[in-house]
Amino acid sequence: MNIFRGLIVAVSGPSGVGKGTVLARVEELMEKANPGSVGHSISVTTRAPRGTEQDGVEYYFRTTEEFEQMIKDGRIVEYDRYVDNYYGTPSEPLEKMLAKGQDVLFDITIEGSLALNRKFDIDTVTIFILPPSMEELENRLRGRGTETDEKIRLRMEQARNEIKRAGEFEYIITNDDVERAAGDILAIITAEKLKASKNINAVKELE
Ligand code: 5GP
Repeated sequence: MNIFRGLIVAVSGPSGVGKGTVLARVEELMEKANPGSVGHSISVTTRAPRGTEQDGVEYYFRTTEEFEQMIKDGRIVEYDRYVDNYYGTPSEPLEKMLAKGQDVLFDITIEGSLALNRKFDIDTVTIFILPPSMEELENRLRGRGTETDEKIRLRMEQARNEIKRAGEFEYIITNDDVERAAGDILAIITAEKLKASKNINAVKELE
């Protein structure tokens, strides 16, 4: 039997596209098929905790100075700024999960996905999620009910700029239906794991 290194599944897409919901469904299906197969990367951020968020659960909440020190110490594998705060992925836990063969799902910024792809190369697959239409994206953003018209306008402008970069990703899917989008991601994960470059050892074993 082959012991595979885990796969980094780096997913980006505009705010409101439903990345969180789709990834939660992907994880549920993967865990059902193979319990313990999904690892969790807890990001470090300089933003303040919201509501019931706890340090070490949703994020590691750190000061800007602490975050910058972690970068200097090489403890952050990728980081980006989003709405005036740093967000980054700690290196050591990720390495451990990959070595154990766990797949790790990421909902991160475009720069974050591309950086993981550069650093981890064949251990990473990048996926961009599109909304079915710009009208639908706006409806979803409005449906949250928390944003002012001006904020919605800014988010839509940002979404248009992000969507222009979808071609920098290896795969593009559309979230017109959560179940279908989750199925597409599972299909991508399966295909990635079957790539010849990842299975060459199995061939050698048969020689
Ligand atoms: P929020 O503040 O809403 O929890 O997250 C804001 C955005 O930061 C999310 O859309 C998510 O994609 C991104 N994000 C969260 N963690 C990371 C990380 O470790 N690295 C990068 N590059 N982006 C992240």
